[in-house]
Amino acid sequence: MRNHFSRRGFLKTASAVAAAPAAAAQNPSPRTNRRAAFSPSSHLEKLSENLYRLEDTCNVYLIRDGNRAALIDFGSGKILDSLPQLGISRVDWILHTHHHRDQCQGDPLAVERNIPIAVPAHERHLFADAENFWRNRRVYHLYYVRNDFYTITENIPVAGVLRDYEKFRWNNREIFVLPTPGHTPGAITLVTTVDGKKVAFSGDLMHSAGKVHTLYDMQYNYGGSEGVDMAVFSLSRLRELKPELLCPSHGAPVPDPDSGIGLTIDRLSEYYRFQTGGGQLTEANRPYAVSPRFIAHHQTTSSFYAIISRSGKAMFIDYGSASGVYFSNFLNATPATDRIRFVEHNIDTLRQRHGLKSVDVAMPSHMHDDHMNGFPHLIRHHGARVWCYENMVDIFQNPRGHNLGCTLGEPFKVDRAFRHGERFKWEEFEFEMTHSPGHTEYQMALFVSIDGARVAFTGDAFFTNPAAPQSDGALRHNLIFRNHVESDSHLKSIRNILDHEPNLIAPGHGKPFLVNRSDLVATEEKLRKQKDLFHQLVADPEPEFGMDPSWVKIYPYQMVVKPGETTRGEIRVQNYRPAPMKVEVALVLPEGWSAEPGVLRLEAAPRAHARGEFLLRTSRERPHGQSRVAIAADVMADGRYLGQITEAVVDLPA
Ligand SMILES: [Zn+2]
Ligand SMILES: [Zn+2]
Ligand SMILES: [Zn+2]
Repeated sequence: MRNHFSRRGFLKTASAVAAAPAAAAQNPSPRTNRRAAFSPSSHLEKLSENLYRLEDTCNVYLIRDGNRAALIDFGSGKILDSLPQLGISRVDWILHTHHHRDQCQGDPLAVERNIPIAVPAHERHLFADAENFWRNRRVYHLYYVRNDFYTITENIPVAGVLRDYEKFRWNNREIFVLPTPGHTPGAITLVTTVDGKKVAFSGDLMHSAGKVHTLYDMQYNYGGSEGVDMAVFSLSRLRELKPELLCPSHGAPVPDPDSGIGLTIDRLSEYYRFQTGGGQLTEANRPYAVSPRFIAHHQTTSSFYAIISRSGKAMFIDYGSASGVYFSNFLNATPATDRIRFVEHNIDTLRQRHGLKSVDVAMPSHMHDDHMNGFPHLIRHHGARVWCYENMVDIFQNPRGHNLGCTLGEPFKVDRAFRHGERFKWEEFEFEMTHSPGHTEYQMALFVSIDGARVAFTGDAFFTNPAAPQSDGALRHNLIFRNHVESDSHLKSIRNILDHEPNLIAPGHGKPFLVNRSDLVATEEKLRKQKDLFHQLVADPEPEFGMDPSWVKIYPYQMVVKPGETTRGEIRVQNYRPAPMKVEVALVLPEGWSAEPGVLRLEAAPRAHARGEFLLRTSRERPHGQSRVAIAADVMADGRYLGQITEAVVDLPA
């Protein structure tokens, strides 16, 4: 079933924060600002009828709408003194391009005056939760050298969130939020029309034609130039929007943005190649046609594939970050409770060069974020439907439920799920899906003929074997216990491949490669050996007890409950034994909390699951004032006391 409205509704309720302008009156009486020792000597400059600039610790731009105004960044807050001369009685919003102190050091003054503040979605924590950032920021052993040290020292209440690719509405105005990482990983550019001109407020993405304000801000990791790579990509997207005036945070407004951006791209590109010994920019990565209807991109963080039908509809297999630089640096910049940032890539290229008209369906090879962190974007901005193997559904729709490797911290809706061995048709193509465990329990292998080739999409199950002569002929595989792997998982997936005899394997990383039967047989042999090793090494006769850290688990793993309220959870047991298993579980909780029943008793059939429900009662006071606490479960299995072998976390929102 396809229903745009319910999907949109689902995404809306799933997204965490909505804009909520403060309603209280703004206090016009100036107070002493203990945070500002100095004041800028500059004067307000009129750029056009309703656009002004004040050179403060950063440029502060003011857009006027009658007697109201919105400010882009805030500097020391000095601009508030100029409002009477412009006949402005109220500032409706401060919109920040990024989190650096020079942009927002006056914000406490705005808070005192009830001026609501909106911030980039992926830097929200560096305003609202700045004090927590400072408690956790590593200074010793510093290799992550990114300049998030330029974060404000006290929490700033955030009233609105500026989400990538969305339009922020202020009165009758739409302000488009373009993600422009570079100067910071979470930075945005705000694009809107002022006095008939398309204006881009680009923060510190660039300073002036061919110049940047700082180089050190674009270095995130030891010796790296990641921010430079991102800035080139961001500037290229900004240039495509054809702004007529560029308003940077430092430097004078740029009246000819196209040539100014072009020169900056050229110089940054040269600098990047110099520093990386000829490294390829993300902006230079392009997909290629394996065959006319089968397009591959192997330079993205995980490979992604587009099958493009005669009608121009595309099915994407995976769609993650634009490059390894994007994935790893957005990941490092993501707070523990949020999702990784996503910036759109390559869809225009597929349209221009490969006949794509729409992204109809997106299918994840498996449930890992590097392969599908673009899916919510495809749903929201391209109307794509998501189809997947059935055991992935709950992980996508309820990612808080699980503690597995590489989940995405944003739920999204699945439109159709398939069983092991199910065949289906999409456009002129016929598919068969099989369960393909090993790399993770939550992975498919998808078989289809495209342009005469028998292709298998196998996610991260198998990779091409190393070049001879070292090669034993076997495909490479990997092993991550947190992904849920059992002793014969890998064997199941190689046997699927042997049964279907594809001639082309399209892996989750790297280019599609030709495969023959002897490679597959050698792989099966190797994986039989792996199974033997598991049995030799694990003390328990059932090796899964030494391979699955979550054979007893609390579900959901990340619970949410308001302080003083109750929530339901489950204890889930996977019995790997060939005999029934009796399990008793008691939750270990903060002072003042309780669980019903006090001891949960379960009996799991041989090699089967069992689950039992509990009710968790919390106290009105948050334990130690914390918004997230851990709980554990004390476990007895078949009369043996195993102790607190499993756990979960509980979020306590206000
Ligand atoms: Zn800055
Ligand atoms: Zn992967
Ligand atoms: Zn993976």
